[in-house]
Amino acid sequence: MTRRAGLRRFVGPAEVAPASPRPSHPVQDGCELCAQPTGAWHGHVVDTEHRSILCTCRACFLLFTSPEAGGGRYRAVPDRYLHDDERPLTKAEWEGLGIPVGAAFLLRGDGGTTAFYPSPAGATECLLNLEALAELAAAHPLLAAAEPEVEAILIHATEDQVEAYLVPVDVCYRLVGTVRMYWKGFDGGQEAHEHIDGFFAGVRSAARRFGVEG
Ligand SMILES: [Zn+2]
Ligand SMILES: [Zn+2]
Repeated sequence: MTRRAGLRRFVGPAEVAPASPRPSHPVQDGCELCAQPTGAWHGHVVDTEHRSILCTCRACFLLFTSPEAGGGRYRAVPDRYLHDDERPLTKAEWEGLGIPVGAAFLLRGDGGTTAFYPSPAGATECLLNLEALAELAAAHPLLAAAEPEVEAILIHATEDQVEAYLVPVDVCYRLVGTVRMYWKGFDGGQEAHEHIDGFFAGVRSAARRFGVEG
């Protein structure tokens, strides 16, 4: 299954320095909830019914930020990036999840946790070893700390390390957009890998230590 909803606007030439994981694409048609112009700043709200991401003005964003809005259809995407360098994932733990590629994000919804990986076709759902995940989350509390629907656990496995971050969910779709835009052939090609590396460098520099935020 491929999830394409809400992705369109995340695909395109990078309008921000590749080092920034934050979305800063322009909004042409105004807030997608109230149709007012958004101005220079806009936020993202997840429509949990359609699992799509809406660009909204500040007023609408704040409306769906309050704790009471937490379980509703529309939920504002928070802006926190966390990592836990005291309890890094090992290569063996990552492999135990059964995800066949080097980068994936885990999204918790009402129906449980789903894993997606960025592919040239979009965000592609992959099977996840849920038992292994539950075991892993006991040892790595960061993995269980994402807010349902609006935050994700983004994992990047390379030759020598496994990085795991809690990120705003729209950031994952930016990664998906980057892969769609630049991936060529079987291995992606140099340009794609430069953009992906730049993306993760941005996430890394934005991330604060899990457990000491606030
Ligand atoms: Zn609005
Ligand atoms: Zn937007």
